[in-house]
Amino acid sequence: MNKLIQNAVAAVAVALMLASSAIAEGITPAAFQSVVDEAYAKYKGLNEGSNADYIPILAETPSDLFGVVIVTREGAIYSAGDVDYKFAIESVSKPFTAALVMKQQGPNAIREKIGLESTGLPFNSKLSLEIHKARSVNPLVNAGAIATVSMVDAKSEKDRWNQVLANISDFAGTKLTVLEDVYDSEYENVWGNRGIANLLYDYKRLYSEPEEALRVYTRQCSIGVNALDLGVMGATLANQGVNPITGKRVMPAKDVPGLLAIMATAGFYDQSGEWLYSAGLPAKTGVGGGIVAVVPGRFAIAAFSPRLNAAGNSIRSLSAIRYISGKLGVGLFGPNPDE
Ligand code: GLU
Repeated sequence: MNKLIQNAVAAVAVALMLASSAIAEGITPAAFQSVVDEAYAKYKGLNEGSNADYIPILAETPSDLFGVVIVTREGAIYSAGDVDYKFAIESVSKPFTAALVMKQQGPNAIREKIGLESTGLPFNSKLSLEIHKARSVNPLVNAGAIATVSMVDAKSEKDRWNQVLANISDFAGTKLTVLEDVYDSEYENVWGNRGIANLLYDYKRLYSEPEEALRVYTRQCSIGVNALDLGVMGATLANQGVNPITGKRVMPAKDVPGLLAIMATAGFYDQSGEWLYSAGLPAKTGVGGGIVAVVPGRFAIAAFSPRLNAAGNSIRSLSAIRYISGKLGVGLFGPNPDE
C-alpha cells in the first residue's frame, strides 16, 4: 500500500471510530446536530431578561446574540448560531482555576481552605431565612473564587496571572486573551469584590495580598471566550481532564469527579438546586451570558446569550442546555421531572 492510501485508510478508520463511539452511546452525529439546531430554533425568539449592567460594558453586548454547541470527548463539534462571538468568560472561569489549585495542592486544599458547601448553614438555621444571600465559601461564589486565585502557587502577581491564563487557555485548547475594555469597566466598579477580598484577608482566608488577588480574579473574569471555547473546556472535563482537540492533559483524571460535584451543587448560584432538578447536569454560568454543562464521560453542552434572569444566569443558554439534556436523556438522575 502506498503512503496516500495508508493515510486515507487511517482517516476512514478514525472517522468510523468517532462515529461508532457516538453511536455506541446511543446518539448519532445526526442526532447531536439536530438537537442543537432544535434548541437554537426553539429559544432564538425568547427575549426575556436583560444584560448584566452592574459591570457597565456588559450592557453594551448585543442582546440578540445566541449560540449553542456540543463538543464530545472525541472532539466532534455540533453547533448553531453565534458560536464565534467573543464575550467575557466571567464566572465560568472559576471551576477551571479551582482545577489548577487542586492540581498544585491536592483537592483537600480546596476542601479545607475554601469549602464545598453551597449554603454553609446548618439544617435548622434561622439565619438562612433572614439573609438568604448569605453563604459561606465554595470555589464558585465570588469569595471562594477570589480565595482560589490567591492560592495559586505563584512567585509574583505576573506569575499568578500567567498561570491562570495559561491554564484556562489549555482547557479551551487555544490561546485566550483578556477583553481589556471589560477588565477596565469591571475593575473600576469592583467595590463589592474589594470588600470581600479585604474581609477574607482579615479573616486569614486569603493567601496573597488582597488587591493582587482582586486584580488577577478580575482579569480572569475578563478573559474573552466564545461558545465553542466553552464547549471544548467542558469536553476536557467530560474527557477526564484531557483536551480532546489538543490531546493535552490539563488536570489529573482523579480530580475531575470532585470538581464536577462542586459544579453540580454551586454552578448556578442561588438557582443551583432548581438547575440540577430540571437539567440534571453539573454546569457553570457567567454573567457574560455563557454557560457550560458537562455530561460526565461523554460530552459538553455550551451556550451563550447575554440576557440574564434575576439569579444572573442566561435565560436562552440555560433553556437550550436544559432542552438538550432532556431530549437526549442525559440528565444524571433520569428524565426532567417537569416533562
Ligand atoms: N466578575 C463577576 C463578579 O465578580 C463574575 C460574576 C458572574 O459571572 O457570576 O461579579
